[in-house]
Amino acid sequence: MKEWLVSLSDSKLDPLSFCRLCYEARDSEFLKAVEQRAKNSSIHEDNTSYEARFARIRHFIGRIGSHLKAARVLVKAGRHYPQLFVGYSIEIATQHLGFTPPSYRGKSSINGIINRMVTDPQACQYYQKELQSQDEKFHLLLEKRIRDEYQNPKFKLRIHAEVILLDLFHRQKLRFWDGIRYIGVSKPACFLCYQYFRAHPLQVQTSGCSNNLYIQWQPPYVQEDLPTLVKEQEDILNTMIRGIRLFVLDKIVPEYQGIKAHPDSTTGLGTSVFADGMEEPYLRDTCRGKLRYHLAVFIA
Ligand SMILES: [Zn+2]
Repeated sequence: MKEWLVSLSDSKLDPLSFCRLCYEARDSEFLKAVEQRAKNSSIHEDNTSYEARFARIRHFIGRIGSHLKAARVLVKAGRHYPQLFVGYSIEIATQHLGFTPPSYRGKSSINGIINRMVTDPQACQYYQKELQSQDEKFHLLLEKRIRDEYQNPKFKLRIHAEVILLDLFHRQKLRFWDGIRYIGVSKPACFLCYQYFRAHPLQVQTSGCSNNLYIQWQPPYVQEDLPTLVKEQEDILNTMIRGIRLFVLDKIVPEYQGIKAHPDSTTGLGTSVFADGMEEPYLRDTCRGKLRYHLAVFIA
C-alpha cells in the first residue's frame, strides 16, 4: 500500500495520467484499505486524527478521479441529447462581490442573535439559557468564536457557482433547455445555496444539499439603485431566514434529531490540477496539492 500511496504523490505524472490513476483507484483494494482506516471520520482540516487524514486522502482521490467521470458523463449526455452540443459556446459567468463583511455589534452576540430570532420573551430566554448551558457543557466557546471570526483579517465573502448561475438565468431571462428548470454543479449545494434556491421565485432545482455551512456565503450583489431587484432579494433573504431560524432553533432544543453534514464534493469535479510544485498556494488551492500534503505524513 505504501508503494501505491507513493505513486499518487509523484509530481512528474502529467494531469491526465494522475486523474486516471485516481479514477482507477476507485475499485482497488488499496482504496478499500484507506476507507477502512478512515472509519467514517470527518474530512475537516481541524481534525488531525489518523482516521481523518485517511478520510481526506479518500476524499481527494475521489475528487481528482471525478474529472474523468465528468468527461464520460459529458460524452454520454452527447449521445442522448446531441442537440445540446450543436453550436454551443462556453462562457465564464462571474459576479461582482460588492458587499463588505459587517463589523461586530451588540446584536452579533449569542444573546443578541437569539433575541432577533425569537420574538416571544419567554421562549427567547429559554433558548438563550439552553444555548448557554450547551456552550458550557461542551466548551464550545461560541461567543469567542463569533468575535474571532468578525476580527479575522482573512475573512472573504464568496458567491457560490450555482447562485451565480441562478442569478444569471433570472436577470437575463434565459430559457431553460426543454423547460427543465435545473442548475447542476459538480457537488451538492451547501446549506445556504440550497435555502436560496428554495426561496427564489424562479423555483429551480439543484443537485441536492450537503448541509455544509460556509459563513463566507453571500447572495448575489444587487445595486442599491435598482429598487425592484433590492426588494426581490429582500424577499428571498427573508424567506431563507424563516427556514434557517427553524433549523437553528431545532438544533438548540434537546429534541433535535440531527441533520448531519456530508463531504460536499464526493461526486464533483476538483479544482485545477495543473500546478506541480508544493508551494503554499498550491497546497491550499488544489485537490492534488492537498492529497500530496496528506500523503506526505504516511510515506515519509
Ligand atoms: Zn453554496
